[in-house]
Amino acid sequence: MLSYEDARLKVIEVIAGLRRIPVREKLKLANSLGRILAGEIAADRDYPPFDRAMRDGFAVRAADCREAGAKLRVIGENRAGGEFAKTVGAGECLQIMTGAAVPQGADAVVMIEHTRTGARENEVTIERAAEAGMNIAPRGSESRAGDVLLHAKTLMGYAEIAIAGQVGCAELEVYRKPRVAILSTGDEVVAVDAQPGPFEIRNSNSVSLAAQVELAGGEAVLLGNAPDRVDELRKMIDRGLQEDALVLSGGVSMGKYDLVEDVLRALGAEFFFDALAIRPGRPAVFGICNGKPVFGLPGNPVSTMVTFELLAVPAIDILSGGEARPLPLLKAKLSRGIEQKAALTHFLPAVLDWANGEATVSGLSWQGSGDIATLARGNCFLVVHQSKLKLAPGEWVDVMPRRGLL
Ligand code: AMP
Ligand code: MG
Repeated sequence: MLSYEDARLKVIEVIAGLRRIPVREKLKLANSLGRILAGEIAADRDYPPFDRAMRDGFAVRAADCREAGAKLRVIGENRAGGEFAKTVGAGECLQIMTGAAVPQGADAVVMIEHTRTGARENEVTIERAAEAGMNIAPRGSESRAGDVLLHAKTLMGYAEIAIAGQVGCAELEVYRKPRVAILSTGDEVVAVDAQPGPFEIRNSNSVSLAAQVELAGGEAVLLGNAPDRVDELRKMIDRGLQEDALVLSGGVSMGKYDLVEDVLRALGAEFFFDALAIRPGRPAVFGICNGKPVFGLPGNPVSTMVTFELLAVPAIDILSGGEARPLPLLKAKLSRGIEQKAALTHFLPAVLDWANGEATVSGLSWQGSGDIATLARGNCFLVVHQSKLKLAPGEWVDVMPRRGLL
């Protein structure tokens, strides 16, 4: 059985090895959040475009203000967006606002809090010594015209969107989202809007997987549910293989009606693993079938969710045209001790909070991998590693936040 870390590395290696370059599309900047940039974005001019005042105050000649208490003549003002054409001469200064251009002659800005006006008209007392360059962001100090500010394959977050906006990219080229087919399996599974029989269950996995696909940056293609019968399963898997990747839930355990692996094998799949040393989620399967990545995730809802996070998210990163992001693990202090028996890495529903100014995690008592009610009362998974199954209160432990919540 592979560790989840090795399984992730395997997925990343295999999917990167496919060398799929996604189709490009043009998007309005405002719609680009979470997308992967296809081209690069360069500065259209110097930034700042002029020597910019970083404080409200007075633009001075530092030579006039070597010591505190200099009295200067105020020759005018300049505001953000404004122009001041004259030069500041010896013994002079200009009132200036944050974001305005520093005038010729001046080489420092003294913040207004360090000045005093009023003794004589048009005179200001500078109460601190000034140094050349003080409170000025020089032209081109952030970037020069032509500098690449965002490289291809950049994931667009809000700061990246701001940079693209700053340099005037109202439209940009990104990669199309990978289409991820979602197929649940099981004779007992009925649609969410159906009335289940006494021993049937509604298809919660398809909707949770669709949400996880979207959070990961993919486009979910919901194929519904396949019964545990070879012919129908095969037909629906074939349909799923037309998309960029296929995620199945259920049918990968050792039961008599767990047919997913067999059907995939009959379709020519190559498997890279079919078990992980984790709980929940042990029987997860990963393979390539007809050139498409296929994840056969166990059907118990929490198993499905955990294995998707561990395995499918990095795959979607790569299929999106970007780099596989690391698994986001936080450290938190354990509130109550915990001991697990099985020599596996455990992902347990838990609550992470910062109530005492410190990250604290508390495990929730639960009924196992079908218990989404308990999972939904928490916001993260507490990770109990196979290498250390007993954790004492107060220990710093790993926490996997639930994407979208934390
Ligand atoms: P399996 O992995 O197929 O053995 O399924 C394990 C258990 O997961 C089943 O007995 C169901 O209780 C549950 N399950 C399977 N598929 C789904 C689904 N699509 N939605 C919700 N629960 C499911
Ligand atoms: Mg099943």
